[in-house]
This record gives sequence, structure tokens and C-alpha cells, in this order.
Amino acid sequence: YLPLRTGRTAIGVVGLDNDKQGPLLTPEQQRLLDALADQAAVAIERIQLVADVDRAKLAAEADRLRSALLTSISHDLKTPLAAIMGAAGTLREFAPALPEHDRAELLTTVLDESERLNRFIANLLDMTKIESGAMEPNYAFHYVGDIVGSALQRARKIIAEHNTETDIPSDLPMLKVDPVLFEQALFNLLDNAAKYAPAGSTIRVQGWTDNGSVLLQIMDEGPGIPPGDLERIFDTFYRVRKRDQVRAGTGLGLSICRGFIEAMGGTITAANRTDRSGAVFTIKMPKPANPPNFDASNTDDLGDLA
Ligand code: ADP
Repeated sequence: YLPLRTGRTAIGVVGLDNDKQGPLLTPEQQRLLDALADQAAVAIERIQLVADVDRAKLAAEADRLRSALLTSISHDLKTPLAAIMGAAGTLREFAPALPEHDRAELLTTVLDESERLNRFIANLLDMTKIESGAMEPNYAFHYVGDIVGSALQRARKIIAEHNTETDIPSDLPMLKVDPVLFEQALFNLLDNAAKYAPAGSTIRVQGWTDNGSVLLQIMDEGPGIPPGDLERIFDTFYRVRKRDQVRAGTGLGLSICRGFIEAMGGTITAANRTDRSGAVFTIKMPKPANPPNFDASNTDDLGDLA
């Protein structure tokens, strides 16, 4: 038996056996084996150390995520909850004495803030799905215009105070995507455009094809994104400015967008407009090799977009 030893510790033992009688190894073989055992021990220890470092890095990353999550949760759960509790409490105490209009407004607050909570929790769940690799896109061919339409419809309350402009040519090739994931990515971009660009400004959605890709852009007329942050905004929990913290948000929206779009084989990038102030998000999806030739008027072919 030969110990596998390093300067720090013993890593293991190598046992040798032989059917023949007599000494197992010549002195030369013994020396060679000792040298091999030493090298093997060092190599094994190195592998173990690398694994230890990786584990430590992962644990530190998980800790960072956990504390960012807690900060975000305490802010993003508490703000709408405080509004809901305030409105519900006022209604219970004073409803009979309040004018109809005020009662309706308080109820609207309860509903709007509940929706906000709902979105936040849905985002958290999406994020955990992406991070655990548990997301399995459900692919089918869909018209880009249809998915844009349903995202705009879902976001209609959020973008009610903005103008919207869409330019999606009807002859854009169909995309092989999961409509739920794609719509969620668009919804998050529309949500941001509405959140960071002032009311009354225009949110534009445009699509075109380019060299085997279908491109989709969402642009707003807000302050845009500092050039140094264009890549980092896609990081989990990253938010650009201090004052962005005042607006409800988690820094999850864009990392979910990227997670979903990349899971479907596309890319998403951020930039600033050159014609005026504003952010532009560009989604690039591969054009499917042979998209089916569906009749656009037959919506049965398109699957369930709800
Ligand atoms: P959230 O909006 O919840 O903070 P996101 O991941 O959606 O999280 O966005 C990350 C950050 O990127 C935002 O906090 C904001 O600073 C910046 N950002 C995103 N979209 C826009 C936009 N359309 N205009 C300006 N800044 C934006």
C-alpha cells in the first residue's frame, strides 16, 4: 500500500497486488511508483481545491443574491401592501361617509397595487425557473404581430398615458417561439418604457427582417440608459440610478427578458436612440429555416395566445 500524500494531507492510498510469489516491485519500479503517487496526490488535491473555490464562489454569489432579493422584496412587497392596507382600512372605517368617487378610487388603488404585487411575484417565479434551468419553452410558429398585439393589450393599463406606435410588416416571417415567454419579454420592455419615459411620450414597436434574422425594437422617449450600464441592466437586481429605486421595480424585468429570449435562441441588447433621448431594446430572433405557410386569417393555426 502506498499513501497518496501532499504537503498538506493524505489524499488516499493505492493498493497493489500480484498473483505471483516474491517481491511485488523492483526497487526501480518502487521509486517510479512513489513518484507517480506523489504527482497523482498533487493533481487530486489541485482538483479538490478548485472545486472548493468554485463552491465558495457560488456560496458568495448565492449570499449576494439572497440579500439583494431580501432588500428588493422588502421594498417591493411593502410598498404595494402598505397602499392596499391603507386603502382597505380607510374603506372599512369611513366607507359610508365617503363620496362614491373616493370609494371607487380607493378600490382602484387596492386592485392596481394587487396587480403590481402579482407581477412582482410572477417575475420572481420566472427568475427562479430560469436560474434553476427548469424552463422548457413550448415552441410553435407564431406571427410576431400577434404576439406584439397581445403584449400591448396586456400592458394597456400601464401604457394608458403614453402614445404607442407600431410598425410590424404583415409579411414578417413567422417565428418559432413560446408565445407566453415572448409576450412576457415584450411586456417587461413595455412596462419599463412606460415606467422610465414620461407620460405623454411615445413608445414605438417596430419589426423588420435582416439577413436571416427577425428584429424587433421597442423604443421610448425617456432619459435613456447611461452607456456604461447598457450591458449591466440585464443583470439580476441591477438598477441604474438612485432615483430609479423610487419607482416600483426589482431589477428583475430585463434579466427575465434576456433569460427568455436567449432560451428561445435569440438575443436582446440595449442602446440609446441617436435621433433623440430614449432607450432602444432590440430583440433578434433567427428566421426559421422553413416556416409553415399558414393563412393569417385562420387563427386556429396560431395556437393559444391567451
Ligand atoms: P426594474 O425596472 O424593475 O428596475 P429592469 O431589470 O426591468 O428592472 O431594469 C433594470 C434597470 O434598467 C432599471 O432599474 C432602469 O434603471 C434601467 N432601465 C430599464 N429600462 C429602461 C428604459 N426604457 N429607460 C431607461 N432606463 C431603463
